Formats: sequence, structure tokens, C-alpha cells
Amino acid sequence: MPLEYLRFLVPDWRDVVEVLVVAFVIYHALRVLAGTQALQILLGLIVLGVVYFAAVLLKLDVITTLLGVGFTYAVFAAIVVFQPELRHALARLGRLRALQLFTAGDARAVTEEIGEAVARLARAGTGGIIAVEGEMPLGDYRETGTAMNATVSADLLTTIFTPYSPLHDGAVLIRGDHIIGAGCVLPLTQFPVTDRSLGTRHRAALGLSEETDAVVIVVSEETSQVSIAMRGLLHRNLTASDVRQVLIDRSLPGASLAAGA
Ligand code: ATP
Ligand code: MG
Repeated sequence: MPLEYLRFLVPDWRDVVEVLVVAFVIYHALRVLAGTQALQILLGLIVLGVVYFAAVLLKLDVITTLLGVGFTYAVFAAIVVFQPELRHALARLGRLRALQLFTAGDARAVTEEIGEAVARLARAGTGGIIAVEGEMPLGDYRETGTAMNATVSADLLTTIFTPYSPLHDGAVLIRGDHIIGAGCVLPLTQFPVTDRSLGTRHRAALGLSEETDAVVIVVSEETSQVSIAMRGLLHRNLTASDVRQVLIDRSLPGASLAAGA
């Protein structure tokens, strides 16, 4: 039936829906991958795919067979290698923005409490590290410390970081308006840090900001300076109001901030 094959010339609503859905999925998949190692690997796979089809067309049987076998195993290898990324992507799916609108009202109150806690810690010269979850869940890091489930408050945060309190060592994790963990161990950055005043606390903040989209606030015990690690960069010498601003916008006000690690 030749007419069957020409059906695509008269698109019906199904075609429109399918094109839109596929375009949406590809766009968001690329956005998730952008700037990650996964994107480079994907490009590598595309190159291999092109080589494969060239080999098929040219009837180069040995190359075709080897690449065919390779691809079969590559699928399993990719699932293992990208297990964290896949998990994050699925977790993001589960937390669509529409749902977050309901919590927007609380966000300001939480920001105020965190800002106040940072100001108090800095004034008292008490060290602290607070990781505020973004879209990627921090649940795995909670396992390294003590799980908690308490509403964020400046009083509670300053109490936790009080020297010699059992939970003062390690990071506090915040999800939404709740403290979900304290005394948590964060991954240290793999990059060399030249500044000697940046010890393990700052390296841990950088490390987490490289692996997740969390905003990590550090108050230095040695210098009382406030810093924020975000997307692998450390922004130093901030005020409590800078911290509030960053928590609201999830971006830095720019000019006043010097980045440097
Ligand atoms: P400060 O300027 O406050 O001294 P620093 O960057 O120099 O910070 P250290 O002096 O090494 O870092 O700070 C040690 C404290 O940092 C520890 O007592 C601990 O509470 C916290 N810390 C160290 N490593 C980690 C980690 N991997 N995850 C979370 N917190 C950590
Ligand atoms: Mg130190």
C-alpha cells in the first residue's frame, strides 16, 4: 500500500504530540548532560556509531562484528558507570518544579534562619559547614553522619556547631526547611588547593559542590570568614546578606565576590 508510506505527509495530532514529547526529552537530557563527562562520552559513542555504519556500508565485516559486540557490552558498562547520574536524573524527574512552588513561601524563612546562623557563627568565631540541597539529593551523605529531621532554625544550627557538642564535627545537611543530617562527612575536592588557609572544611565544601548542585556555606574557625562553594567554585569573604542572596537566587551577585580556590 503506497499510501500507507505517505501518511507522514498528513500529520495528525499523534505526530505532533510525539515530536513535542521527544524534543522535550532530548532537550532536557542534553541539559542534564551539558558540561559533564557523560556528554563527552556520548560524543565518543556517536563517533563510534558513525564508524560502525560506515563499516556496515563498506561491508568491513571484522570491524562491524567487533563494534557490534563492543556495543552490546557498552550498554551494561554505561549503566554501571553512570549509575549516579542515572539516579540523579530519575530523582529530578520525581521532583518537578511545579511541586516546589508550594514550598516557595517557606524558602524565605529558611534563608533568614540560615543567614542569621551564619552571622552568629562568624561573630563567635565558630567553624561550621552547611550544605543546602539543590535538585540532587544529599541522602547518601546523610548516611555518613547522624540523620535528623528538624525544622531549620538559627538556634539549632548554632547549637550544633558549638565546639565540643557531639555533632559539631562535620557538615549539616539541609533539604527544604529541614535539617536532615549533622556530623556528615563530605567528599574532599580532588583538585589541588594552593591557599594554605583552606583546610579540609573548605575542601569538603568544594568537593560536594563539584559532585552535586548543593550550595555549601562555610564559616571558618580560623578566620571567621564566610565562604560559599557552588558548582566547584569557592566564593570567599562573604557577608551573611550575601549568603541570603545566594540562597534565594542560587546564583552569585557577581561584582563583590572574588572566586578562588
Ligand atoms: P577552618 O578555616 O574553619 O579552620 P579549614 O578549611 O582550615 O577550616 P580544618 O581546620 O581542617 O579546615 O577544619 C576541620 C573541621 O572541618 C573538622 O573539625 C570538621 O568539622 C570539618 N571537616 C573536615 N573534613 C570534613 C569533611 N570531609 N566533611 C565535613 N566536614 C569536614
Ligand atoms: Mg583549619
